[in-house]
Amino acid sequence: MHRGSTVAFMDDSTRKELRAWLEFYQELGIEGFYRREPGTVEAPPSLEAAQPAQPAATPAPKPPPAPAPARVATPRVPMQVPTPPASGPRTPDFGHVIRRPTPSFNLFEAVPAPPSGPETLEQVRKDLGDCRRCKLAPTRKTIVFGEGNPHAELVFIGEGPGADEDEQGLPFVGRAGKLLNRMMQTVGLKREDVYICNVVKCRPPENRTPEKDEVDACSPFLYRQIEAIKPRLICCLGAPAVRTVLGIKEGITKIRGHFYEFGSTKALATVHPAYVLRNPREEKILREDFEKIRDFLKGS
Ligand code: URA
Repeated sequence: MHRGSTVAFMDDSTRKELRAWLEFYQELGIEGFYRREPGTVEAPPSLEAAQPAQPAATPAPKPPPAPAPARVATPRVPMQVPTPPASGPRTPDFGHVIRRPTPSFNLFEAVPAPPSGPETLEQVRKDLGDCRRCKLAPTRKTIVFGEGNPHAELVFIGEGPGADEDEQGLPFVGRAGKLLNRMMQTVGLKREDVYICNVVKCRPPENRTPEKDEVDACSPFLYRQIEAIKPRLICCLGAPAVRTVLGIKEGITKIRGHFYEFGSTKALATVHPAYVLRNPREEKILREDFEKIRDFLKGS
């Protein structure tokens, strides 16, 4: 909690009630309350509603307000668009309902409620602010929000920024980015025509895979970016993007090369360029998938 300024505008009884609520939430294991910049803060839960009949030390448990809804209204329903090849089991088991991950509830920093009307990327970026919603914040240098055409037909989603991206504040500018650029070139795509972003916007230490709580904190902003851009196609680069966007846990090499649905947008799963850098013989599969992207975008 932001100390000092928090108490300055409160009278004693409000402060006591707030303290009781915070203790209550801490007992539930909910910690790390942050204060947002003035003007962007969500209305906090009403303190008046908080159990004045109970002693402050044991506040009556009142359910916390539901977190604001995330931005994507339609559930992700993975399904394959092209007919799967006759050979091999191509359809993963989607017998369960795939749900967006629920962001961890945070009293003062719940995902902001969507403003009415279509949102722009600038609005999403502004809401993200100098984000401290997860434990990646202290070690990152730069938030890598995303780059490209705000009206792109194609959005690439990687895993998270690496060292070069963290340094420059731009996605896919290191070795993996160079390979991504080359793949785009081979199928006649221009980098400036597409939009590129990541599952998490801050570099995980040592480039480790983003952890669930980090993805939960960051992915609502990714969904909002997709909503703002409304691309025709999303290309998930690697397992973390596939897991986050499509909810598919199967190995990437099994499910790559196929189209799924993300709301009303089609999504193609493919391997991450960094995987190809480590396994150069696999370049052909990335190329094959990029040809599918080209063919998809050429279709009406
Ligand atoms: N790898 C990613 O997943 N994203 C980047 O932006 C760079 C490397």
